[in-house]
Amino acid sequence: MNREDFHILEEKVYKKPLIYLDNAATTQKPQVVIDALSDYYSTINSNIHRGVHCLSQKATEEFEIARKTIQHFIHAEHDYEIVFTRGATESINLVAASFGRTFIHEGDEIIISEMEHHSNIVPWQFLCEDRGAQLKVIPFNEEGMLCVSQLESLISPKTKIIAVTHVSNTLGTINPIKEIIQIAHQHDIPVMVDGAQSVAHCPIDVQDLDCDFFCFSGHKMYAPMGIGVMYGKERWLNAMKPYQGGGEMISNVTFEKTTYNDLPFKFEAGTPAVGDVIGLRKAIEYMQQIGIANIASYENELLQYGTEKLLQIDGLRIFGTAPHKAAVISFLVGNIHPYDMGVLLDHQGIAVRTGHHCTQPIMTHFNIPGTVRASFALYNTFEEIDTLVAGVARAKEMLQ
Ligand code: PMP
Repeated sequence: MNREDFHILEEKVYKKPLIYLDNAATTQKPQVVIDALSDYYSTINSNIHRGVHCLSQKATEEFEIARKTIQHFIHAEHDYEIVFTRGATESINLVAASFGRTFIHEGDEIIISEMEHHSNIVPWQFLCEDRGAQLKVIPFNEEGMLCVSQLESLISPKTKIIAVTHVSNTLGTINPIKEIIQIAHQHDIPVMVDGAQSVAHCPIDVQDLDCDFFCFSGHKMYAPMGIGVMYGKERWLNAMKPYQGGGEMISNVTFEKTTYNDLPFKFEAGTPAVGDVIGLRKAIEYMQQIGIANIASYENELLQYGTEKLLQIDGLRIFGTAPHKAAVISFLVGNIHPYDMGVLLDHQGIAVRTGHHCTQPIMTHFNIPGTVRASFALYNTFEEIDTLVAGVARAKEMLQ
């Protein structure tokens, strides 16, 4: 699908055609996104919001149009519920820090899951340490599905927030977040969804999900690196204290007292990545032209095909076998170390990720050192999967 828009895919590595299957780590960028960055810097680069001059006004306008594009893309009620950050990691840190300083006290409890990325574990651990709060964990089963039935028993009157991933970057599992949110809301507990792995692969409607926060990165959805989004419901954002202090986020500053700016600026201290925000908008428009549902169904075909073909290799085990998965396949072959497999695949031009994928608790669960992970995007092909399967079989022969 649309391969010609991604010139990097014409690159050769070790004189072999590049087969890029590390999309859960970051996707490649279509030319329209690269052009948008170049156009921004060559025509309207300027600091935004505070300038009276023409360039500043143009840059501000483009920046705020992008905010609206993102609002519509995830079906947020208001554009001021979209806060720009550097990525999912910063978005989650923002929620943990701001929600935490406002609402978490000694003895309170925070629920996350066993399949979280470290980005959705460590910020909550910081908070627990600072506030004397406690972290509780929803486990997952052998297929890599969350044991949602255990959620009720983890919830207590002290539970203040639940933070859970929409899609696991290691197992590929698509979690039933709507159900989790419904359970949480019956107890008046807000839910933060880590959407880093879902936003490029399925349609998102934050109002339908009724999530309180939704965090994601641009670079996993064909946009530049270093830009991300924290969506928060207006009532939470208004109630929360800001995350970082600086320019733009204030209304009035004196040495005695500072008052804060309106939403979303209260959470956007300092000069933002204007060009990257515009790049994110272009990436979203690009995906919308293809259609998110079309992307999802094509990637699902790749997933089914890849799963079937890889399982034909004797001794290959897949970690994450839930019925509803995003296009991520984590595997091991016999007792071959994932790193060795990754290096041999690389020499054949195939880029996969190896290791713990920033999800060490998942590795502990399965008692494995790591996995090899192939993850697909809209530009991958069935032929590339055939090459991957042949490459894995070849590497197996060499290593065993
Ligand atoms: N959550 C999940 C599920 C992820 O896969 C990732 C990136 N691997 C992150 C959070 C963090 O994203 P970033 O590094 O772009 O901030």
